[in-house]
Amino acid sequence: MQIPLVSLKTQYAQIKDEILATIHRVLDSGDFILGEELRLFEKEWAQACQVSYAIGAASGTAALHMALLACGIGPGDEVVTVPFTFIATTEAISYTGATIRFVDIDPETYTLDATELKRVISNHTKAIVPVHLYGHPADMDPIISVAKEYGLKVIEDAAQAHLARYRGRIVGTISDVGCFSFFPVKNLGAYGDAGMVITNTPEIAEKVLLLRNHGRSEKYEHRMEGYNYRLDTLQAAILRVKLRHLEVWTEARRNHAAQYAEQLMGTPSIILPVEKPWARHVYHLYVVRSDRRLELQQALRQAGIETGIHYPLPLHLQPAYQRSGYPRGTFPHAEQLAAECLSLPMFPELTEKDLKTVTATIVRFSKN
Ligand SMILES: *Cc1c(COP(=O)(O)O)cnc(C)c1O
Repeated sequence: MQIPLVSLKTQYAQIKDEILATIHRVLDSGDFILGEELRLFEKEWAQACQVSYAIGAASGTAALHMALLACGIGPGDEVVTVPFTFIATTEAISYTGATIRFVDIDPETYTLDATELKRVISNHTKAIVPVHLYGHPADMDPIISVAKEYGLKVIEDAAQAHLARYRGRIVGTISDVGCFSFFPVKNLGAYGDAGMVITNTPEIAEKVLLLRNHGRSEKYEHRMEGYNYRLDTLQAAILRVKLRHLEVWTEARRNHAAQYAEQLMGTPSIILPVEKPWARHVYHLYVVRSDRRLELQQALRQAGIETGIHYPLPLHLQPAYQRSGYPRGTFPHAEQLAAECLSLPMFPELTEKDLKTVTATIVRFSKN
């Protein structure tokens, strides 16, 4: 493929010197577990998100698991989320022993539809997990208002939405607790696995600090059983270097999205992503919809353009959740998006020329 869906190589070439210097510094220091670079990255990420506490985690999945546990979620509880997300969201719920309850997505933003919440809330419901899918924030105010009414915790899955904003506020800080992934292709990506929990609530921060390091308060005093869910120092050091570029990279993504929108506007049978007036979309993915998705994907492939499908099957129809017994048709918006979504190339270093090749191919296709 001449034009990849995402490429990490150009970016690495641009920051190689900084990265290698940092790696050498950490290796020389011998400070690999809960080291100084992690402390600094946590401080800098808290500053970037304008939040009181940031606690590094081994992955986004680990971050979600700990956030749920720190909110007191466990066996017998029900947690509401969307069927249209990466499976890590629901795996984390299951890890706690709680039961997953799905509500459909909003057909415009592809995030949790708050008007559906009251239908699934029961006496056992303890929390809601909205997902800021593709980098567009979920509409948080109505979610928070339902949560307040029923005394529920809200845990934001912001794994795809670094520095996205909801009504001016950084996502992940709008509810009880926010979770990030720094998986390599995320908007801020490590060179391996990494994640983060952020919160303004000291009790949640304290619990996550214990959970991620074997429940340890002193070296060999364990207040509880925890996990080995630490973010390693080397990845934290790499993330510190990349964080310095994140705002510029985010603006580059937003510029690409504006170009896509301008060049594809009015193209028949292509539905473009929306950015609500209250949102800052950070375009982790640029996802269009087409009712001829496979043909369109084929046409792009023939032109040397790689695309992706995020995601081809909503979670309620996955084999892993067959036991839940949701028939096809239960969540029509999620099912329609799964059938029509196509992710176009999107990464900060995508060139204007490549972007034009993509849009020209789509425009040509739509005329047939
Ligand atoms: C990537 C992702 C996760 C999981 O993050 P990992 O770091 O891969 O564990 C969770 N939720 C969503 C929506 C994601 O995209």
